[in-house]
Amino acid sequence: MKSYTSILLLLIASLAAQAQQKTKTENVILITLDGMRWQEIFNGADSSFMKQQQHLKDGKLKEKYWRNDLAERRKALLPFFWNTIATKGQLYGNRLLNNKVDVTNNQLFSYPGYNELLTGSADNERVHSNDKFYNPNKNVLEFINTQPTFKNKVAAFTSWDVFPFIINDKRSGVYVSTGWEPVKEKKLTGREAMMNQLTKSLPNPLGDVRLDAFTFYYGVEYMKKNKPRVMYFAFDETDDFAHGGEYGAYLNSANYTDRFIGELWDYVQSDPTYKNKTTIIITCDHGRGADAEGWKHHGQKVPEASQIWFAFLGPDTPAMGEMKNEQQLYQNQIAKTMSALLGQDYKNDKPVGNAISTAISK
Ligand SMILES: [Zn+2]
Repeated sequence: MKSYTSILLLLIASLAAQAQQKTKTENVILITLDGMRWQEIFNGADSSFMKQQQHLKDGKLKEKYWRNDLAERRKALLPFFWNTIATKGQLYGNRLLNNKVDVTNNQLFSYPGYNELLTGSADNERVHSNDKFYNPNKNVLEFINTQPTFKNKVAAFTSWDVFPFIINDKRSGVYVSTGWEPVKEKKLTGREAMMNQLTKSLPNPLGDVRLDAFTFYYGVEYMKKNKPRVMYFAFDETDDFAHGGEYGAYLNSANYTDRFIGELWDYVQSDPTYKNKTTIIITCDHGRGADAEGWKHHGQKVPEASQIWFAFLGPDTPAMGEMKNEQQLYQNQIAKTMSALLGQDYKNDKPVGNAISTAISK
């Protein structure tokens, strides 16, 4: 009798697992561009801001990013977004078409935004500074890392050195690489050894924040060696340069990051571990102001900073391109969407935002 029961329970458990796993996605890569505005994602460079370039000179901005035609202009800034994601994936958040994405937290800066993104709900009471304090809230990376088939297959490569606290690596067990520290591993690849030398030799305009190229290429080396099933790349330069009023450097960073994402997609589609079973989700932590001064800023005094955007590319996302329907989505929906793509049902202590149904075909 006892063995019958256990066989039956096993059968039910395996049926339940099968019922949950209906998606083709086996791996997810989450990517964020800190404080990247929806305005440039959908409209390309703003010619009236291009003169605002104080220290980091770049005389070729107009040549690189200005086109009179809107479709050509946004493609010049973000070629991977507009050649590949716009034809094979989905882009949400063009407010000129009334397709809106917003944060639900009322802080409108980084830690509260990443907390909302990764946990699935805002926490204005406890998360209202960028200080290095360990996040009391559990997050979706941590949830996935506790599922047996994902154990130790979740990693985050982050430029901003507050991420170990946001993700709470001590509690969550999620591997977090951050800041301007050489990678310490017994066996370094040639590229890692070279990057370790450069981190000790290059001037860094961002202080403790790691330049995004290092975050990206260290992360790719990690992926090739360890084959994580959930990978998070958190880029930072766009926000730093925007605060400095360096519009050209902000555009260049967005353009480099677009290229990183293209290189990442090429890698994903060339490696049998990832090919045709990996979804990329791209978004940001907050928006910024809209006018010639406001674009540099965000926070509670800049209400437009609640405006954000999402991009999806992967085997479960219907190729709808730029979403043109009137709609309102929220930052708190990404955590559940990520887990749903992996066939997991993410829950937390507080209610979390719903999965975005149009991003996952049935
Ligand atoms: Zn900022």
